[in-house]
Amino acid sequence: MQGQQEHGAGAETLVLLGRDAVSGQAPDLPSKALFGRSLGELAEAVVALGEKPYRAKQLADALYRQRIDTLDQMTTLPLVFREKLHAAGWSVGRPPIVESFRSVDGTERYLIQTGGQTVETVWMPEGDDAAEDVEEESTSAGQAGGQGVGWKRATICVSSQIGCAVNCRFCLTAKLGLQRNLTAGEIAGQVVTVLARHGVELNRNRVNLVFMGMGEPFLNYDNFMAAVRLLIEEVGIAAPRMTVSTSGIVPGIERFAAEPERPRLAISLNAPNDEVREAIMPINRKWSINDVLEAVRRIPFKPREKVTFEYVLLDGVTDRPEHADELIGLLRRARLPLMVNLIAWNPGPGIEYSSPSNGAVLAFQKLLLEAGIQTYIRRPRGRDIYAACGQLKRTSEAGSGAPSEGDSRGFPNLA
Ligand code: SAH
Ligand code: SF4
Repeated sequence: MQGQQEHGAGAETLVLLGRDAVSGQAPDLPSKALFGRSLGELAEAVVALGEKPYRAKQLADALYRQRIDTLDQMTTLPLVFREKLHAAGWSVGRPPIVESFRSVDGTERYLIQTGGQTVETVWMPEGDDAAEDVEEESTSAGQAGGQGVGWKRATICVSSQIGCAVNCRFCLTAKLGLQRNLTAGEIAGQVVTVLARHGVELNRNRVNLVFMGMGEPFLNYDNFMAAVRLLIEEVGIAAPRMTVSTSGIVPGIERFAAEPERPRLAISLNAPNDEVREAIMPINRKWSINDVLEAVRRIPFKPREKVTFEYVLLDGVTDRPEHADELIGLLRRARLPLMVNLIAWNPGPGIEYSSPSNGAVLAFQKLLLEAGIQTYIRRPRGRDIYAACGQLKRTSEAGSGAPSEGDSRGFPNLA
């Protein structure tokens, strides 16, 4: 919410919740995983086995609504049918959580197994404090989560790739480079696995999704949108409850503009002009701020819909009053229904920037608000478990993937 600001929790507060056993689950060939397939694809598979197409609907229900993760547990399906699936080499293949960490603020970070690597997903009870539609506030009290923590609403931060190719200078994920794209099943699977863990009832609990984890969703466009369609059509999450963030991949924004149903859009602007943006986001040399804004203008916004501009505040680089003034001019000229999320930079090892002072963050917000621009400060969540934006990078390359408690900085060796 506006005006809220917190700074770094101690690294010592890390809580490792556990390493879940993955044994008992045969390593699935991705081509034989049922999870991630659309209703049409499931129908093809089912018909190929000589079954009636309506079995696909039952399967989809079990996979996406009941969140069942083994064929054995799908007891609403006839045993013969399940045995047939099994014999043909099919299994559920939903990516499991292998490690989880809980922050003092209730945020949980999960390492989710995808093939030989892990990907990171974050659960934030009470949302991420940015871009909330307050008037839509849920009236029903949230039930107790899987870990016994009560919550009224929650946001799940989802990854779209392992690593990222975009190379923003301030981002730890960039240090990984692009390892690989996630499949639609791996993207939607993060959501369903976390919903299952917390026993979320989508008709009672309010859940938002933000595609702001590892990776650049618009450089994995087809898989990302296939996951979005699954989440809308089969899992049952409404598109306006989802926000995708892009660093400004223009061809992706253009395709997105033509989608009949799509999440809300956030643009990682992060700078008030091309010069500063180029210095911190080399992608700006390919698509300038103007190119991005032009593409965003092609989106047929719904009434009341706004595009979010994310703006990472870097001490001395993007957080000065003159930057705010320049940003105000830029946003006014953009002539878009918009709002701004200010994000205080999260430090990371080997990255030569500094976090802004609280005063600078508040002063920056004040200038934008005075100019009539709706501006939020995104409260850092889960910093003690490295679950914050730009810190999602711990994958298999760092051994167990967990920051060790003995390391006072809490960061794995990046060498
Ligand atoms: N690749 C997409 C989505 C993932 S990054 C994108 O860049 O938009 C999600 C957000 O985290 C972006 O707005 C990015 O600018 C921000 N971010 C990255 N590293 C950060 C850091 N160290 N501190 C704060 N925000 C960061
Ligand atoms: Fe990739 Fe986004 Fe990080 Fe840039 S900020 S490197 S686009 S994940």
